[in-house]
Amino acid sequence: MFYAWGEYYFGMVKNHIIYNSYSPWRFDLGRAEGSFLFTDRGKRLIDFSSGWNVANLGWNNPEVSEAVIAQINRNVYAPMWTSDRAQNEYARALTDVLPDRLSAVGRATGGTEANEMAFKMARAKTGRSRIIGIRDSYHGQSFGAIAAGFRPDYVKAIAPVVPNFTQLGYPSSDRSSLSPAAALAKFSSDLEAELTSGDVAAIITEAGIVTGWGTTSVAPRGYLQVVRDLSARHGALLILDEVGTGFSRCGKLFALELEQVTPDFISLAKGMSNGAVGIGAVVTTDEIADATYAKATLTSTFGWTPPACAAALKTLEIHQRDHVWEKAATDGAYLMRELRSQLKSTTAVKAVRGLGLEIGIELTDHIMVKDVLAKAFSLGLHIAETNEGTLQLMPPLTIERATLDEGISILVNVLSETAPAK
Ligand code: PMP
Repeated sequence: MFYAWGEYYFGMVKNHIIYNSYSPWRFDLGRAEGSFLFTDRGKRLIDFSSGWNVANLGWNNPEVSEAVIAQINRNVYAPMWTSDRAQNEYARALTDVLPDRLSAVGRATGGTEANEMAFKMARAKTGRSRIIGIRDSYHGQSFGAIAAGFRPDYVKAIAPVVPNFTQLGYPSSDRSSLSPAAALAKFSSDLEAELTSGDVAAIITEAGIVTGWGTTSVAPRGYLQVVRDLSARHGALLILDEVGTGFSRCGKLFALELEQVTPDFISLAKGMSNGAVGIGAVVTTDEIADATYAKATLTSTFGWTPPACAAALKTLEIHQRDHVWEKAATDGAYLMRELRSQLKSTTAVKAVRGLGLEIGIELTDHIMVKDVLAKAFSLGLHIAETNEGTLQLMPPLTIERATLDEGISILVNVLSETAPAK
């Protein structure tokens, strides 16, 4: 059932499709190009979502589309007991840009599957069963991924999830009243207390900012180093979920470069093929892959189809050719500066934080979020539905400065006119 109001549809089923989102409103996309979306009624929207960190190189990037079409004319499918030339080329290109140890790729269809592959390999390698995750983080929709990050009371209706997952609080200042140094020290001792029991196979975390949950919570500098050192000391493996932070979003090609940390697994998806064809990957060491491939059951019928690999190869080439991460860092610093200064005296805004071009505006009252999104939409700015009282801004990294400015101006106007409830 659904009903319509202007451009919005309310309700969960329309045209026989179950809309899998928590947002109370949704719209039909007509076409998309660069930093713009157009609804099926022709309304133009500046996009500040990149489809949640997918279209980092702009919507329908023509170079990526051409690469997919060329591959479709060569070969569209390779079963999992074979590998196609496009897969081999992409595996080489991807491992070339990652730290040397990360040299073996598990072929997945998306981020959830990549993380599941990492959980399975970590258990198979260590012979231990417990996985530690960060509370209020998103790693996907499988039961394992849910167990790693969703609070149990969010998912009561589908319980039980998976046993032997433990969640720790994230050491960011928006989550606690501690100073960054004190929050990191507390996190470190909490993690160590879990690890000393000797049954932890792995810890899974994002790289210093929560991109998948809607909070954009930022960890103190040194967080990744702490997680790396402690996990290594206690024989647990580190799974770095770069599904959101990867592919230039945070001002580096991969956010692990921010702290020069090499995890045991990195999981990738989303910006990997710029949205052209679904793909995901877990990249690990040869040693872990060799020791676990037979036991960890990693098969995936549609993981790494040749057109997906062609899209991913072209996407990676563009990131490297254009140093897209540098623009993300510069535009991110600009957006942060503008928002902080223009929203200084706006009562609706509690904090502006982020990394690179992944920026959150935390509102003083979470109820205002839907209202702000709807008003911005009506004025021509698209922001993804978000969570926890924070607007999560993720413009395409290729956005032109004038378009970014136009979006900022709509957002500042909407926020200035939004007053917290008395
Ligand atoms: N990890 C993170 C950080 C994500 O943001 C997402 C998707 N929102 C996933 C994992 C899951 O990826 P997918 O939807 O491709 O399964």
